[in-house]
Amino acid sequence: MSSATPPAVTVLGLGPMGRALAGAFVAAGVRTTVWNRTPGRDRELVARGANGAASAAEAVAASPLTVVCVVDYDAADAVLRQEPVTAALKGRTLVNLSADTPARARDTGRWADEHGIGYLDGAIMTPSTTIGTPHAVFLFSGSPEAHAEHGAVLRLLGGGHTHLGADVGRAAAYDIALLDIFWTSMTGYAHALALASAEGVAPSELAPFAEGIGAILPPLFREWAEDVESGSYSGEGNPLTSAVSSMAHIVHASEGHGIEAGVMRAAEGLARRAVALGHGADGFSRLAELLGRR
Ligand code: NDP
Repeated sequence: MSSATPPAVTVLGLGPMGRALAGAFVAAGVRTTVWNRTPGRDRELVARGANGAASAAEAVAASPLTVVCVVDYDAADAVLRQEPVTAALKGRTLVNLSADTPARARDTGRWADEHGIGYLDGAIMTPSTTIGTPHAVFLFSGSPEAHAEHGAVLRLLGGGHTHLGADVGRAAAYDIALLDIFWTSMTGYAHALALASAEGVAPSELAPFAEGIGAILPPLFREWAEDVESGSYSGEGNPLTSAVSSMAHIVHASEGHGIEAGVMRAAEGLARRAVALGHGADGFSRLAELLGRR
């Protein structure tokens, strides 16, 4: 970002996240051009000073840097992989903040290379309400040159900003792994609320204790990472045999109330498989090794 040229950015896709991204650029004084498939979603941004473009190609042509943030890569392809949009992107930089798989990210990276487009893939690990605040978390991967050129503008989106290297798929790899934790935890809590309610425990009565259970998890993340990297899965204090028994109680109690227990049954089945393979004295981190076996 040179001081002589004021920064300019285009945002394609104005769902809740795209609007938050564009709003943060506007608030930071960046010349911001916006476009969305369904017209009218740019109204508030335009009132705040953004330029509303009539087409995606016109929006791309307005800035050296385009950020696309739509539901997934099918949607991003529908916007980007058509003329005159692809031609307009040539010689410019594209940052894709839509979520999808690492394979889709790498495929888009190859397409961008073939069309002379600088490409960064990105993942946003926090809700739209955090954008422009210190609480936002952004991961990027892909072209180090594009990151060196546009990193300063992208940092205006706030919060933590990490470039994970030249492998375009790396941000999406972190994204799916981190969301794996998030969605399975959320499913566990939804199930716990249903099970507790069936036992006459109100959600608000359970919630403070749920926070306590949640607080046990963060130190385990690094401990397990060490276990998996060292190949040592000590079950001292909490072996898999004990975990299997605890999980079975949850399955039985749930099914006694007619509450489906498929997620816990699957987890219990996995732990039982580890025990059957002779790992009963190991800790729960052994499951990561078991799941990774091919
Ligand atoms: P959505 O995931 O619902 O995406 C909505 C946007 O996608 C709209 O701009 C919509 O356009 C566009 N879109 C959908 N299909 C198409 C298509 N075929 N062609 C063109 N545009 C299309 O909302 P968000 O803004 O919340 O999310 C955008 C991305 O950000 C997603 O990948 C999401 O996973 C990610 N994300 C979102 C977070 C959040 O808090 N919202 C948090 C972290 C990541 P239209 O208005 O025309 O329908």
